[in-house]
Amino acid sequence: MTTIGVLSLQGDFVEHQAVLRRLSTDVRQVRTPDGLRDLDGLIMPGGESTTFCRLIQDFNLYDPLRAVIKSGLPVWGTCAGLIILAQRASDLDFPTLGALDITVRRNAYGRQVDSFETNLSIPAIADGSSRPFHSVFIRAPVIEEVGDGVEVLAHLPADAGPAAASPVALRQGPFIATSFHPELADDDRFHRYFLDIVRQQGRGYTPK
Ligand code: GLN
Repeated sequence: MTTIGVLSLQGDFVEHQAVLRRLSTDVRQVRTPDGLRDLDGLIMPGGESTTFCRLIQDFNLYDPLRAVIKSGLPVWGTCAGLIILAQRASDLDFPTLGALDITVRRNAYGRQVDSFETNLSIPAIADGSSRPFHSVFIRAPVIEEVGDGVEVLAHLPADAGPAAASPVALRQGPFIATSFHPELADDDRFHRYFLDIVRQQGRGYTPK
């Protein structure tokens, strides 16, 4: 059976866990380096990236998480999780994990659109229908730069105000990231998309 770890130091890990369980996936709450053993995939949830980074250091998880990324284990970051996976995050006084060749700016949607919901077209997760994905943004980061090796899976609509058309879902090899929160939508297509990547990769990760 596929085992997905959800980093459970802070933030909305329970919501990810609930969706994965509904999809009959074995879920493990990860709080220690040992908890990374024999995983098939890992989710870094939303929360507060500064707190996350501090706890990652306090729980001695920074080097083990870097090793997980280096090993090519599929990892998905949502919102704060995306910030932590980025190579460059302005306004964050902690090292990130550097899985994705992107530059992000925290809390950069501006006061008026601080938190919002919108429907996105995401062809990669389409299940034969063109049903839009209802997406919840909560003090999300803006993705300012995207490297050549990064595939943009979704943009904000062109009429979405100051950050119109900016990228909000990405993939770089086994790593995916969303600046919104699919775990809060009543729609499991993004979780199924991640599980498909995990199955294609098809192996457990054991720390050395
Ligand atoms: N604003 C948070 C941060 O900068 C992210 C918010 C979220 O994960 N919903 O870390």
